[in-house]
Amino acid sequence: MSKAVFDIDTKAAEDRLMRYLAIEGQSGEEKLIAEAIIDDLKSIGVPASACRFDDAHKKIPLPAQIGNLFVSLPGTRKGPGLVFATHMDVVPLCKGARPKRKGNRIFPEGTTALGGDNRTGCAVLSTLAQTLLQSKLDYPPITLLYTVREESGIQGAEHMDPSLLNGAKTCFNFDGKSAADLITGAVGAQSWEVHIHGKASHAGVSPEKGISSTLVAAIALAEVKRGGWWGKVKKQSNRGTSNAGIFAGKDGKPAGDATNVVTDYVYVRGEARSANARFAAEITAAYKAAFAKAAGMVKDDRGGRAKVKFTGKAQYPPFNLPESAPAVKHAKRAAEMLGLKPTCVFSNGGLDANFFAKHGLSTVTLGAGQHEIHTVKEFVELAQFAEGCQIAVALATLKA
Ligand SMILES: [Zn+2]
Repeated sequence: MSKAVFDIDTKAAEDRLMRYLAIEGQSGEEKLIAEAIIDDLKSIGVPASACRFDDAHKKIPLPAQIGNLFVSLPGTRKGPGLVFATHMDVVPLCKGARPKRKGNRIFPEGTTALGGDNRTGCAVLSTLAQTLLQSKLDYPPITLLYTVREESGIQGAEHMDPSLLNGAKTCFNFDGKSAADLITGAVGAQSWEVHIHGKASHAGVSPEKGISSTLVAAIALAEVKRGGWWGKVKKQSNRGTSNAGIFAGKDGKPAGDATNVVTDYVYVRGEARSANARFAAEITAAYKAAFAKAAGMVKDDRGGRAKVKFTGKAQYPPFNLPESAPAVKHAKRAAEMLGLKPTCVFSNGGLDANFFAKHGLSTVTLGAGQHEIHTVKEFVELAQFAEGCQIAVALATLKA
């Protein structure tokens, strides 16, 4: 357990978290929560003119109501600015969530997830603003960054406008369980998809006249496995993972229409991850080669083969901060100041920090009490939420 070093209005912070948790806001529908955050910030003395949106929603290829929200706090001292970030959206399972406090935890009433991922982060940032504005603490210029569409593929962070960061290079992102677990790196990911067009034929009367797309896909995946590219992938010093997650027919229907028809079309979609962007691309290339090879192994009676259209693309880049990075050292000092034992963690999932790195922000991600996220068992541990608020203030006020 940590010690509370800063005088934080815990009651106001918890009330704020309860309010934020009760607001809907799936990916692309963050308008309501953004308005609630701005109202909240105005009520604690942040001028409306300090709140600005970028135009990420115009660049994101999916529907999005608003862009990312940037809030500038001018600071009481000069010095390199800091960014405190978090995402506003919650997963679809949170639809209709009604937060209820039981003892030192908050649970969802009913059968939804809660949205502690990531309304805990939103409440930490707003509580940081309240604490700084209502105290005599000294702090440098700070930008609070509330992003959109994290859960749908880190799109808000990908398309954000870095010119609104006031030149800051260091970021602390709140999106996790514990203030002591410092996420300082994460894998990058590729996504791929393949359309396999074979040829239908009566499976009982003339199967030899058909080209089975199902067989092409099956052989391709077996080939991927044989080559050591399936699941956990290890090649020399490189490590990664891969998966074929969706195996379907047209419009998401099952692959194939009937048992007596040779399947003429199959769609497969998957991913590859690695700490090394090039290796993730290599895994994707192995899938591509396997589908091409499989297409050559399934022929009809006249030598015809399936048409395979494979596309792979980078989804988000990996990043990995050394322990000597100023952001990591700063986060460690802040954690130790609260009596915590910080450890650096490398994440096998992507988060906003992956794209922050691309925008020139050196980012450490910390937690504020999320548990069992993306499930109906989700809850928030209020002691850890309070710790998240404490460490945010420590990070903002510690001299570099
Ligand atoms: Zn999250």
